[in-house]
Amino acid sequence: ASLNGKSLGVWGDVGCFSFFSNKNLSTGEGGMILTNREDLAEKIRLLRSHGMTTLTYDRHRGHAFSYDVLALGYNYRIDEIHSALGIEQLKKLSRNNALRKKWSELYWRELADLPLIFPFAKSNGQSACHLFPVILPRAVNRERFMQSMKDQGVQTSIHYPPIHQFSYYRSRYNQVVLQNTEQAGLREVTLPLYPTMGEEKVMLVVEAVRTALRKAQD
Ligand SMILES: *Cc1c(COP(=O)(O)O)cnc(C)c1O
Repeated sequence: ASLNGKSLGVWGDVGCFSFFSNKNLSTGEGGMILTNREDLAEKIRLLRSHGMTTLTYDRHRGHAFSYDVLALGYNYRIDEIHSALGIEQLKKLSRNNALRKKWSELYWRELADLPLIFPFAKSNGQSACHLFPVILPRAVNRERFMQSMKDQGVQTSIHYPPIHQFSYYRSRYNQVVLQNTEQAGLREVTLPLYPTMGEEKVMLVVEAVRTALRKAQD
């Protein structure tokens, strides 16, 4: 994704990417940090590997025989096998994102006559079209909508339950009220979207949405 021609991930000092299995680029698990700051790069390299001064690989090659531990670090290393997957996935990313955009635009067009809200559809910049979220009308029961979609063979999900309502955050930031977030959190449903989807599958989902909206009216 980008804004004013500048890609996400290069704003600010640090950009973080997830390569979890549901992402536009996946290695199964893993992620990536970008930074232009040498001091942060050095610190991150240290922390991702137990705070150790030399890598197993260098010791294995005989470049180093010992090491020191400079910080209380982690094992946050993506491994060679998953990195190799990521390098191949990267070659397909632009093409896959263009396909996600194509199916998103088809959805917008075909669902335009329904009382749905499409968050971010008119926002600035280039979207990576990661998900296809819709906001249901107030008069529609979301649980029944999702059940009807399921009965028609279409999986849906919710992105995301508001974070401040999870037990951990509630116990720390209790009393926080975010009306818009909570409203969106109650009415949001995510429709299927993936690069190889095809026009036929999009139309199948569109028809299922029409049926489900009818069945889930309160
Ligand atoms: C992206 C994502 C994750 C993983 O995020 P990481 O930053 O890789 O830990 C987990 N669950 C959901 C629903 C996600 O969208």
